[in-house]
Amino acid sequence: MPELPEAETMARDLNQRVAGFTISQVLLAFEKIVASDLKNFEKTLVGHQITKVARLGKWIKFELDSGGALLAHLKMTGQFIMGDWPGHLSGQWPAHTRAAFLLTDGNSQQTLFYRDIRKFGRLRAFPQDELLSFLSQLGLGPDPLELKPEEFHQLVSIKKARLKQVLLDQSLVAGLGNIYVDESLFAAGLSPYRLATTLTADEASLLLSHIKRVLNESIAHRGSTVENYRGLEGPGSFQDQHLVYGKHGQNCPKCGQALAKARVGGRGTTYCPICQK
Ligand SMILES: [Zn+2]
Repeated sequence: MPELPEAETMARDLNQRVAGFTISQVLLAFEKIVASDLKNFEKTLVGHQITKVARLGKWIKFELDSGGALLAHLKMTGQFIMGDWPGHLSGQWPAHTRAAFLLTDGNSQQTLFYRDIRKFGRLRAFPQDELLSFLSQLGLGPDPLELKPEEFHQLVSIKKARLKQVLLDQSLVAGLGNIYVDESLFAAGLSPYRLATTLTADEASLLLSHIKRVLNESIAHRGSTVENYRGLEGPGSFQDQHLVYGKHGQNCPKCGQALAKARVGGRGTTYCPICQK
């Protein structure tokens, strides 16, 4: 599932390619991919210019000149692809493509495809007022890249839950998922089982600095491609820099003992029982 670095890479690339283009037509091959009001989906989008594409936690937000937006959550296998679509008049869809947005800037046309093999991703379109209420209901926490150490300590240390669970909670910090939580906890030497309430200010500061470093390094590598994430311009390469994620049974790169696998808060977790306290 795309996490913050993958969504950031996708949003930056999309912004380069589609900002300034107007949506001239919306076509759906699989209507259930739309999780907002289906009747208004097309109406909210068609005729509007995409002014900017940005990331919000793990979400991708296409901002419109109307003040509204198209929101995408890619879940397991969602991806955006740009291209031409000569088959659209005959209704011939590219494989696994669930939606298509025909775009024009007055001179040229291109198609933005939403492809999703497993169909867990969702698209939502909102006019401005509904967008604000949806986002407030969604209740995403702050972006970890923008947090200060004392804010981070305050946020996580009030939760009576294990660190792994707390960091995955999008309402506390938005954008982290399994990969970057496992990597950051290992780098900071903190156990995924640790109760967040016991985190000292120094430990929280160290953890946040590793979270930011790992996320920024991953963005520089255009994200991690494990399973099937692909950005607009191809796969990322940060998976080659992972130290623990998915490596249970292999030797810990710090102490040489075997990395353990556990379930913490219902999520598969790889960690070093010796190095992480
Ligand atoms: Zn170790």
